Amino acid sequence: MIQLYIPLNFLGVLYREIRQGLIDLERLFELLDSQREIADRPDAVELRLARAPEIRFEDVHFGYEPEREILRGLSFTIPAGQTVAVVGPSGAGKSTLARLLFRFYEVGQPGRAAADGTPAAGGRISLDGQDLRSFTQASLRRAIGIVPQDTVLFNDSIEYNIRYGRPDAGPEAARQAAQAAHIHDFITALPQGYQTRVGERGLKLSGGEKQRVAIARTLLKDPPILIFDEATSALDSANERAIQAELRSVARNKTTLVIAHRLSTVVDAHQILVLDQGRIVERGRHAELLAAGGRYAQMWALQHNGAGASNPADPHPPPH
Ligand code: ADP
Ligand code: MG
Repeated sequence: MIQLYIPLNFLGVLYREIRQGLIDLERLFELLDSQREIADRPDAVELRLARAPEIRFEDVHFGYEPEREILRGLSFTIPAGQTVAVVGPSGAGKSTLARLLFRFYEVGQPGRAAADGTPAAGGRISLDGQDLRSFTQASLRRAIGIVPQDTVLFNDSIEYNIRYGRPDAGPEAARQAAQAAHIHDFITALPQGYQTRVGERGLKLSGGEKQRVAIARTLLKDPPILIFDEATSALDSANERAIQAELRSVARNKTTLVIAHRLSTVVDAHQILVLDQGRIVERGRHAELLAAGGRYAQMWALQHNGAGASNPADPHPPPH
């Protein structure tokens, strides 16, 4: 009864305030969101990278809630300038891994801190040996380009949404990035072109169009660390192939984490991790994993059943 009463009463208060115009709805969501935000340590320093760093996960554990552990002790290294791909069934924890690297969330699990209060219980993520938690979030996020699984656009012009990746870039650079992401022609065909307002209050873009805006933003930002979380999953296969080539070229010499659902996009990765229920169950290069005949080989066979399966050692099967 009490549990029921409090939220209802809380909503009642909010409703009155919204009606009285005291709270802008958007601001409300910002407030709710900001509660999840991670605070900078008082001694946090600016992350400064002269080149792409090594990224290391050491026995990383994570859960969104106390009862449910999502990542159960992950350890892997992405050497400076290399690409590691993560594959695995939906719900395995792949996007969670990306969110931890971007530090949307902190390693560890609510209610499961070590007895002495040290954060060791959650393991550690580091850049060139330095714990992520030692950097300011703003400087960390400047160093990382992320194409998330679901892109949310700002209620602003499409040009703003692309230049957000690097506000000091000129409009010409934004157009080049849009061209590389195969979204330029779509934009110029809009009545207001690059000034078209998008987002929830503007033109609603399809999943594939939003992905291409996010890719343009990341190409423009050109940061030393890249995260692609099923970055091309909403594109048709012709667009996907063309953009994959761009992504591969931008990833050269950058430290890159690629999450993929289509395995044909990860055959070139320096290492592939197969994640299942928060654990790495296999790791290796494409050819090694195929030869091992385990989970990866099964997933590959399932996806390439038919035309591409005739030569499973061919790293470039015909596209589907
Ligand atoms: P994947 O990307 O591999 O499909 P996710 O990392 O998105 O998997 O999710 C892993 C698990 O964590 C899923 O069971 C999902 O339901 C849960 N999860 C994801 N986001 C949240 C969240 N914000 N709060 C609670 N649970 C979540
Ligand atoms: Mg995901």
